[in-house]
Amino acid sequence: MWLWSYCVNPLILIRIPIMKIICIGRNYSEHAKEMNSPVPDVPVFFIKPDTALLRNNNAFYYPSFTNDLHYELEVVLKICRLGKSISERFANRYYSEVGLGIDFTARDLQKTCKEKGLPWEIAKAFDYSAAVSPFIPKEELGDLTNLEFRLEKNGVVVQRGNTADMLFSFDKLISYVSGYVSFRIGDLLFTGTPAGVGSVVIGDRLTAYLGDRLMLDFLIR
Ligand code: MG
Repeated sequence: MWLWSYCVNPLILIRIPIMKIICIGRNYSEHAKEMNSPVPDVPVFFIKPDTALLRNNNAFYYPSFTNDLHYELEVVLKICRLGKSISERFANRYYSEVGLGIDFTARDLQKTCKEKGLPWEIAKAFDYSAAVSPFIPKEELGDLTNLEFRLEKNGVVVQRGNTADMLFSFDKLISYVSGYVSFRIGDLLFTGTPAGVGSVVIGDRLTAYLGDRLMLDFLIR
């Protein structure tokens, strides 16, 4: 019996990535306004598990538990060092690559959570709710405090952002979050979405650009 258990244990047979996805909320004031949320004094963050990852431009399958699925395009940092209580001054040593991601959100469920003062996990942390692009070494991107990015839905621009408009810089976010939660190599930090969030329906195609680079191109199924 023990041998059978060993053979079917997927944790042994499949390499499971041990990482987490930390997401920042309300890091662009125009987005906070569109959500009727106050502009925060300190970063707001929540966590998605590794089961939320959606990669390789795989299609996103619309979940049955929501009727109002929203995209939130965000710049994503990949963590390259183990760290805890990182000072802002040294925070840039802890991320080496930058990509784009979509923080899929069940807006109807999130609204209910907010009204009841409940955590957001059912609205944010569900399977495949974190679409991520390939990552680019930050040296290739130039000034990280002035990165333009945009999302197109079916070829029409729906979100435009620039990291210059973030309320809290990458370094401040790393420093703040690591005061509560340690970072491990391979963790991802979603750095917040600019204004323009909106809904998707089955059949939509999402394409995202960092500057002029096509980073994401996938379908909602
Ligand atoms: Mg978000």
